[in-house]
Amino acid sequence: MMHRNYIGGQWLSGSTASVDVNPSDLGDVIGEFARADAQQAEQAIAAATSAQPGWAALPGAARAEILDRAGHELIARADELADILAREEGKTLAESLGEVHRAGQIFIFHAGEAVRNPGEFLDSVRPGVEVLIGREPVGVVTVITPWNFPLAIPAWKIAPALAHGNAVVFKPADLVPASAWHLVNILLDAGLPEGVLNLVMGAGREIGDVLTGDRRVNAVSFTGSATTGERVLASAQSHSARVQLEMGGKNPLVVLGDADLDAAVAGAVEGAFGSTGQRCTASSRLIVVDAIHDHFIDRMRDALRDVVVGDARHRATTMGPVVDESQLAQDLRYIKVAVSQGAELSGGELLERATPGHYLSPALLTGTHNHQTINREEVFGPVASVIRVADLDEAISVANDTEFGLTAGIYTQSLAAAGRFRRESTAGMVMVNLPTAGVDYHVPFGGRRGSSFGPREQGRDARDFYTTTKTCYVRG
Ligand code: NAD
Repeated sequence: MMHRNYIGGQWLSGSTASVDVNPSDLGDVIGEFARADAQQAEQAIAAATSAQPGWAALPGAARAEILDRAGHELIARADELADILAREEGKTLAESLGEVHRAGQIFIFHAGEAVRNPGEFLDSVRPGVEVLIGREPVGVVTVITPWNFPLAIPAWKIAPALAHGNAVVFKPADLVPASAWHLVNILLDAGLPEGVLNLVMGAGREIGDVLTGDRRVNAVSFTGSATTGERVLASAQSHSARVQLEMGGKNPLVVLGDADLDAAVAGAVEGAFGSTGQRCTASSRLIVVDAIHDHFIDRMRDALRDVVVGDARHRATTMGPVVDESQLAQDLRYIKVAVSQGAELSGGELLERATPGHYLSPALLTGTHNHQTINREEVFGPVASVIRVADLDEAISVANDTEFGLTAGIYTQSLAAAGRFRRESTAGMVMVNLPTAGVDYHVPFGGRRGSSFGPREQGRDARDFYTTTKTCYVRG
């Protein structure tokens, strides 16, 4: 079946199409998806521009109702949507189900935000004058998302954008159009007016510059790689659009000598290899103190032997395949470089299963140093490295020595050590006795340095990006 773009209330074929393939079974085609060209991208921006004032003029309660309905529909159809997600992205059914529920919860949360009055009312410094500070929509927002959370990331951008009265042009990642297509359908069925949300599927390198560089676009919210992020920033800033970038991570997980080792090993396995390690919040650098280093590695190797790599839709599978051939090649390349720089490898082997797919066993690289390539660059696959340190001082210094700054974690039973880590970490999010991955939807999400740019996403902070303030002086 051909799935078309949705622009200005119409389903339109593209000039070309892409084929969505299941990474667990390369012979299984999910469908064909239209690819928008530059002209359709412009059409989508025009449609959003003309629909936005009407959408913003609706009472917040009317917008809330639509978002709330969509959120509940996502949850009601969780099994069906999780199956599609697992099939096109390769995360396990359990992980996919969690993501669908999360997307639903995000829409329900932001439905509430649409009716909460965020204004302020103050006395002026001038007698007899009052000041009202209100928040208005930014206007037209381009939303560009990566492949690794095909529903949750679009949800956490589109929901607040719509809640606050913006119109959206949505470009999902080329690898995962099916989840995006279903999400748009659910929002339309929930009652979204024509032109308020436009879906343009296709290659970012072909339509990205139009979607970010057009003067009618007032804001761009992007999640993806640092390289693409830089380009998006330059293009959007060329016409002074507001920009929000969420990019990569090289997240440290520190394990101290007094840690509950069962919990630390379970947390490291989940943090590093959950979602096949394809998470910006993955615990990719495991920083372990000398006192328990060797024991921790033995325990990790045992635990990784229990990971069941297989078809994402099989109930027994605990780690799905890598998303595509080029990501698999990148994972193998980083493993090779790490070994050539002196790391010792366990796992990291290509696996054969009943159907042809991109199967890789979890790779643990030990004996690594923080200056080595494997600890400087994001792999974005089931690959973690271990760095030995003497104590908490060195652990904190190694944890913070990175170009990124998304999330950081520590396993310890010492309140003092945890407190010090929390204060001295230079990441945007800190986890104590938890993996670096795994975040809530009602609190700010984001990092520092090369991981993020612009206001935080999610929770109440989302409104800072999707609204602009108006200050009104009134003499009564
Ligand atoms: P990517 O940068 O290749 O693509 C991201 C999106 O940008 C896609 O929709 C792509 O089509 C689009 N794009 C490509 N070229 C463009 C251009 N010139 N202009 C505009 N858009 C363009 O990233 P990816 O491979 O899809 O995702 C993996 C990356 O995403 C990793 O680096 C990961 O860390 C990051 N990520 C970050 C977060 C976070 O919140 N920090 C979350 C998930 C993923």
